[in-house]
Order: sequence, then structure tokens, then C-alpha cells
Amino acid sequence: MRLQCESCGLRLASFHFKEKGLINPKLRSICDICLERGLSAEDYANDVIATFAQALLYGYRGKAGTGEHNFIVKGQKQRKSYEAFMQDFDSNEVASGQIDRSELNQAIIKSEDGKLDFIPQGGTEFSKNLAGLGLKVNFQLNEVDYINRERIRAKYKYICQYCGRPGRSVDHKDPVSLSHNNDLDNLILSCSECNRIKSDMPYDLFVKLNKQVEDLNKKLVRYDASLRTLKEEFEHRRRYLAGQVHLKGVVNDPELNAIRKENKRLQDAIDSLESDYDAIRHLRENHFTTGWKLALVAKKDDIV
Ligand SMILES: [Zn+2]
Ligand SMILES: [Zn+2]
Repeated sequence: MRLQCESCGLRLASFHFKEKGLINPKLRSICDICLERGLSAEDYANDVIATFAQALLYGYRGKAGTGEHNFIVKGQKQRKSYEAFMQDFDSNEVASGQIDRSELNQAIIKSEDGKLDFIPQGGTEFSKNLAGLGLKVNFQLNEVDYINRERIRAKYKYICQYCGRPGRSVDHKDPVSLSHNNDLDNLILSCSECNRIKSDMPYDLFVKLNKQVEDLNKKLVRYDASLRTLKEEFEHRRRYLAGQVHLKGVVNDPELNAIRKENKRLQDAIDSLESDYDAIRHLRENHFTTGWKLALVAKKDDIV
């Protein structure tokens, strides 16, 4: 499903319009690239997205009414070029694993604004478009083929080997940027959070620091499992409500309102649990960041 951004005019996959990290999901009138520009969804009307959000029982962030279609990317041909590039990027695991969204968005903005003399071209190799935008992706080094990824995931039963939560990231023990080692025994399974925190940290140091927070890890596993169950239940109830609204053909109804009240209570419980969970996650992440900083300082002293 692709939606059109009311600010730049690009048609992008729906996740570009979804607000991050909210239990109660919301769709925005503008895309994440435009958000990165510092634009505010509240200044733009997008009736298509508003309707779509309503159908999904999502919230909507944006002005009411119909948009003015005064797009940042003027020509339709140009918009198509960017759209094709974004589709390539969104579906490319190697590229999206090496470049974060913010970096990508900044490059697109520069190109859209003409501060970078390059527009991604349709029919051109994806890697050439990336290079033109000044984005560096190493397709050779990180090429763990699909079968190997699945083998690693099955080997570790889809569990992050660092924290114990579910995980799908096939991770290099020694970062590929340091060791160039794609052998299977250099690969391990992690969750996206551990993968991000570990980043370029040496494997041994990461494991050592991780051992020091075993108790936190156990808590994270419990919180994560509870949250998953509650969110599933919430999702189930949300769909049920949507079905009932559809069946009854009315929005305001005592029975429906009772379900909404129940859902609200469950959502509050999830929010509160999630905020405790986030606090532990931040505590743990700080432990790693500090540990690595200290290790780097110690290393410097050795040289002196
Ligand atoms: Zn946009
Ligand atoms: Zn993990």
C-alpha cells in the first residue's frame, strides 16, 4: 500500500507515514522525509490518509480537509524517480542495514532541494543511484546469502544470543568493517537492539559488558514477552471493534463504547509497562556506551 505525501508529493510505502514507537498507531499527513525537514504534519491536510487511518482505527496527525497539492518535488517524472529509488531502498536488506533512515532522508532532501546535483534515475543500477546520493553501501562485504541467514536463525532458534529476546538480525561477531569475515562461525543471531548497540564494538568487549547486566537481560525477556502478549490481545480487540463498527454501521453505540473503554484500559496498562521496559532498555544501553568509552580511553593510555 502506497500513500502520497501532501508535502513532497511522493507516493511511498505506508510505513513512511506511520508514527514511530506508539502503541496507539497514527498516520501522518506527510512522509518521514518531510518530517526530517522539520515540517509539521499538523500544517498539512491529507484526506486520503485521514480516511485510510480511520478505516484501520488508527489515529491521524494532520490538518482536516483536502490538501492543496503544492508539492516540493514539482514534476511527476521527478517524483517517479525518487519513488522508484525509495522502493529499491526499502526492499534492499543490505542497503537498509548499513544506512540509517535519517542519513537516507538527509541525502534525499539535499537532492530534492538541488543542494546536491543528482536525482536518482529509473533504469539505473541501484548502487549507482546510492553513490550519486553520496551514500556508501558495501554490497560485497555484508553479503550473507538468504539461505545462510535462515540457517543461522534456525540454529539459534530465533533468539538473540546476547539478551535472550526474540531476534532475527544475523550479526557479525567481529564487525565486518573491521574483520571482513563472512564465515559462518563469525555469524551470530541478535535482536535489532543488541545489533544496534553493539555496532562496531569488539565482540569480546560486548560479551563482557553483557555478562555484567545478566539480571537486566532477564527482566527484558520477561517484559518483552508480557508486552507481546498484551499487544496481541490489544490488536485482537482492535480488530474486533473495527468489525463491530462495520456490522452495526454506527460509530456511537453503548456496546461499542464499552468495548472502547475496555480497550483504553488495556492500552493504558501497555503504555505503563512499556515505559518501565524502556527505562530498563536505556539503562542497559548506557552501560554498554559507557563501557566502550572507558575501554577506548584505557586503550589510549596504553599507547601513551
Ligand atoms: Zn514528503
Ligand atoms: Zn538482544
